[in-house]
Order: sequence, then structure tokens, then C-alpha cells
Amino acid sequence: MAFEQFGTMNVNEVGHLEIGGVDTLKLVEQYGTPLYVYDVALIRERARGFKETFAELGVAAQVAYASKAFSALAIYQLMAEEGLSLDVVSGGELYTAIQAGFPAERIHFHGNNKTADEIELALDYKIGCIVLDNFHEIALLKEMLHEKKMKTAVLVRVTPGIEAHTHDYILTGQDDSKFGFGLTNGQAEAAIREVLAADDVFDLIGLHCHIGSQIFETTGFIMAAHRIMEQLVLFRDLFGFESKVLNLGGGFGVRYTAEDEPLAPEEYVKEIVAEVKNMAQANGLDVPEIWIEPGRSLVGEAGTTLYRIGSRKEVPGVRDYVAVDGGMSDNIRPALYEAHYDAVLASEPNGEAEETVAIAGKCCESGDMLIWDLPLPKSESGDVLAVFCTGAYGYAMASNYNRIPRPPVVFVENGESKLVVARESYADLIRNDLPLW
Ligand SMILES: *Cc1c(COP(=O)(O)O)cnc(C)c1O
Repeated sequence: MAFEQFGTMNVNEVGHLEIGGVDTLKLVEQYGTPLYVYDVALIRERARGFKETFAELGVAAQVAYASKAFSALAIYQLMAEEGLSLDVVSGGELYTAIQAGFPAERIHFHGNNKTADEIELALDYKIGCIVLDNFHEIALLKEMLHEKKMKTAVLVRVTPGIEAHTHDYILTGQDDSKFGFGLTNGQAEAAIREVLAADDVFDLIGLHCHIGSQIFETTGFIMAAHRIMEQLVLFRDLFGFESKVLNLGGGFGVRYTAEDEPLAPEEYVKEIVAEVKNMAQANGLDVPEIWIEPGRSLVGEAGTTLYRIGSRKEVPGVRDYVAVDGGMSDNIRPALYEAHYDAVLASEPNGEAEETVAIAGKCCESGDMLIWDLPLPKSESGDVLAVFCTGAYGYAMASNYNRIPRPPVVFVENGESKLVVARESYADLIRNDLPLW
């Protein structure tokens, strides 16, 4: 196969791109364009890759899906089915998870500015734990728990002074982040002192850190694990605190284009576990439960967006713009982060490239470009373009900019498709508008 294939992708007997055993052109006929398609088998494979590796290594673990990557009832239900835990970062994600029937005790609540209303919701639902992010929150939660005469499990989020991005990891001395308590400036120690002192309302189960995203190497995770284990030794000696949980966050990389070379879930897990075990043994600590929080790596590569090609504008000597019927309204990552994507024509995914075109979105912004240089066979208005690896932070970041309705989401598996998010209608677009007259 010539194109970079993900999961169950295949070229079927009539030469079309097939995902989950379903012809993508049939999907377009049935559901229209633009359309987000998710390869359910690939999501399950990734989830099991993380989860089973911990099991094989005999380490207690929780793999929590960082649901900001793609939040909808169906994905929460799929992750529940796979036995994963869940991270939410807002009342809206929490509400969606509960409506999906996700087990509350496996939900963890993150965020640097959880409101009192959101915390109230989390306490009422009796979720598994709250990840404390700052001193304001410690005070707020403490007060609310006293009022409700409740006790809740908490993690303390620390910034270990390591920032990882793709192939670079940066050691930062001064913890300049809006998230968490600095390890090097003494804030983490102060936070833990405060939380332990309020053990009538807080059950401090461990520490959390998240070092970045789209990380392709294990180095950053190992450094983070090392630093936090060092701190756990210190906190044991200072406070007699025995941490049950070490949460190392998410950020495991995916392959947007052929330039990206992510590791398999197994590789990250093996090296993290080895470091934690070494540190525990060397310092006479029990091996804590290891929690991780993959978002992108569970759903990114599983998502493909199908668009209909419309207009074409040729700028002689410069480039040819080929426009599709979506854009930054359904995928803002190219405009926001200069993210790169790869794509094929769904009718001939292995077709010989005859030209290099620029794929433009339809929004009224010059920056609404999905791909700047895409080699493609000659395409015509009406052809279907399949853009790969759009499963994370695509639908989740979609907007109604230009009053474009959000596309539907379809799950495909074993030759069948299931609509899991309906296409927004024009009526949906004005449902919260109130007329002036
Ligand atoms: C965003 C985030 C994640 C997930 O990151 P991915 O790059 O999608 O894996 C995990 N944990 C926390 C705390 C996050 O903010």
C-alpha cells in the first residue's frame, strides 16, 4: 500500500478507501460531508496496548482517557467498555461522561480554574478524584467539603520542571506554567503540607504531572518519573507520606504525517514502569500505582475527515488552491498550531500523484488552509478528500465560525457504521439566539 495506512484502512475491490470494512464513498453517500469517521478497532487496540502492558508487567495502573481530545457520549461509552478511566476538565465533559453512564469512581477532574459549580457537580457525582492545581482550589474545595461533611480523594499536580515537545525536552528551573505546583520552588511541598493537614476532608492519594504533548521519546517521561520519585522520598521523610499513586499524564505522540514516528504504547509503558520500579527499589518505597492519561494517542490516528472538493483556484506560477467544504471550523489545528496533515482521494487512495495542490478550507480567513503542499492525482469538483489523523482535537475544537454547522461523527467497525453525533442543522445554529423583535 502506497499511502500511510492507519488501523483497519484498506483499499477495497473497487479501489476505494475503506475504514472498518466500510467504503468511505458509501459513508459519504449516507451521511454527507464533511464527516468525521472513527476506526473503533484502532481505538480498542491502542487502549489495550496501554492497559495490557501494565498488566503484563504486574503493575497496578489506571489508563485514563484524556477526554478533551474528543468528547461525546459514544467515545465515553467505548472507553468504559475497554475498562479505562477518564479525565475531564470541565463541568461539560463531566456531565457528558455521567450521561454516558461512565463509572463515576473512575473519573478524575483536572483544570486550573474549576469553578465552585463544577466542583459541586463533581462532589455530587462522587467522582474518583480531584486533581488539585493551586492554593485557591485547595481552600475552595476544603470549604466545600467541610460544608458537605464529605471527604474526597485528591492528587496534587506538580510541575517537575521538565517540558517535553516532540523531540525536545526542556529543563525549566522556574516552573513557569499556569498549571500545578512547582517542585523546585517549594510550592509543591507547601501544598502537600496543607493538604495533609486537612486529612478530615482530603485523602491525598498521590502526585500528578503532565509534561507536554506529541512526545515521541521516552526520555521526558523517565526524567519526570525520576524527579517525582525523588520528591516522594523527600515527602516520606518530611511528612511520613506514602504515595499510593504516581500519575505521569499524557502526551504520547501520533503520526500526523510520515515525518512523525511515534512509539507503540507498549514502549512508553515499559520504560516508565522500569524507571519507577528502579527508583522505588533504590529508595525503599513501595511501587506506587502508575496512572497515565493518553488523549491524542487513543483517538488521533483513528479519526479521518471526509470532505467534498468544490472550487479550484489556480494562481499561475504560485500554487493551485483546491477548496473543500469544511476547514478551520472542523479542524483548527493547522491555523492554530501550523499542524501538518496528510490526505488522499477516497476514490483512489493509491493513485499516482500528478500535481501538488494546497487544500483550502471554506472559512473567510486566508489562514484557513488545511494542507499547503499535498501531492494528489488530478482531482475534480465532487471528489472526496480523506484527511488522516483528525481524531484528536478536531471535533473537540470545532466551532460554528461563519455559522457552519458542525459535521457528524460516525463510528465504523466490522463492516458497519453507526452515527454517534448527528450533523448540526441550521435550526441548531440559532437555538440559543433570541430575536430582537
Ligand atoms: C491534555 C492533557 C492530557 C492528554 O494529552 P494528549 O497529548 O492528548 O495525550 C493528559 N493529561 C493532562 C493533564 C492534559 O492536560
